[in-house]
Amino acid sequence: MNRLFKWKKIIVYGILFVILLTFLNDRTVIVSKADVTEESIKAKENQISNAKKERDSLKSAKTDLEKVKKQLESSKSDLNNYISKIDASLTDVQEKIDNLTNQISEKEQQIDTTTRELEEAEFIQLNQYESMKKRIKFMYERGNTIYFELLIQSGSFADMLNKADYIEMLSSYDRQKLNEYIETTRLITLTKEALIEEKATLDEAKNQRESEQANLEALLKQKSDELSSVKADIKDKEAAIKEYEDEIKAENAAIAALEKEVEADKASLYSKYKYDGGMFTWPCPKYTRISDNYGMRMHPTLKVEKMHNGIDLAAPAGSAILAAYDGAVVAADYNGTMGNYIMINHGNGLYTVYMHCSALYVKKGQDVTAGTKIAAVGSTGRSTGNHLHFGVRLNGAYVSPWNYLK
Ligand SMILES: [Zn+2]
Repeated sequence: MNRLFKWKKIIVYGILFVILLTFLNDRTVIVSKADVTEESIKAKENQISNAKKERDSLKSAKTDLEKVKKQLESSKSDLNNYISKIDASLTDVQEKIDNLTNQISEKEQQIDTTTRELEEAEFIQLNQYESMKKRIKFMYERGNTIYFELLIQSGSFADMLNKADYIEMLSSYDRQKLNEYIETTRLITLTKEALIEEKATLDEAKNQRESEQANLEALLKQKSDELSSVKADIKDKEAAIKEYEDEIKAENAAIAALEKEVEADKASLYSKYKYDGGMFTWPCPKYTRISDNYGMRMHPTLKVEKMHNGIDLAAPAGSAILAAYDGAVVAADYNGTMGNYIMINHGNGLYTVYMHCSALYVKKGQDVTAGTKIAAVGSTGRSTGNHLHFGVRLNGAYVSPWNYLK
């Protein structure tokens, strides 16, 4: 009767085994290309905690708009002081937006990499699983039913691998293989967690950027309201015109001093440039609307005919400003009238000037080529809306930018 029982048992197990193999869908086993190491586990744990830290520091870097507004309130009596203070805030917020933009693209890349790592770990896990399955089949065929019995008792393959007391019953080779499988499973869990954390940090960065953009707009509106109310307040039109003329005079004096510096060229920064007569690159890609052209025009707030020494290109805050031509940066600075501005020497007495920027990306003395991203559009200095004021100077005087633009 013992013999009969044994035969029954073998038949039942045999049927179950065939069902199991069909269910597991036998695939070609590829030797796993990389083992899961302690380092890769550690790296994932670090990634998770870094993503959390990054999210916390994002939250604490938020601009306190109410505080900024309160600080500005006290300087309203002195317009120049007010402009330089609000410009500093505008520059600061734009810098945050730029940093967030970089952080967002880094995060997106990191998420791509982590997704690939997850796929890789899952592939390794599948191979390890397939190898163990083959191992069980091999043992079974050689009459060792212990693994198979464990499998039946556990209910599933995964449960079997999770039961520590079974591990002791395995050979050291199988124990090692099983440990590798468990490590891979742990790495997969951590990688999935890392992905969740990275995505949460990405969302936070995106939300932050949106709210900083709203802050920037609120500050710009306040500035433009303040500037127009001051202009309207000046009852004496002559005084307003004189103030405007003084501003332009101061601006031109600053530009002329820079040109003198280039002529002297003590540091030999500029002598290598010779303008070859080529046409300029459009300085504000995709934005071609001229909100104010070069030449005599009615001044928008003063309502008198005035010379406008460049072209104004209307573009949203943060839009890229490109160097119009090869040259060396003569100035990347701040001035109460021009705001954050850049001046580039192209040689043979030719210069380009970019005003009212929200951020500057180049430094004085730096070489640039046509199309180098040098700054971002803003509304710093005497400006009431986001635009690029683009001026061209030849031999010490402004000329029409249209001579150089297609
Ligand atoms: Zn202008």
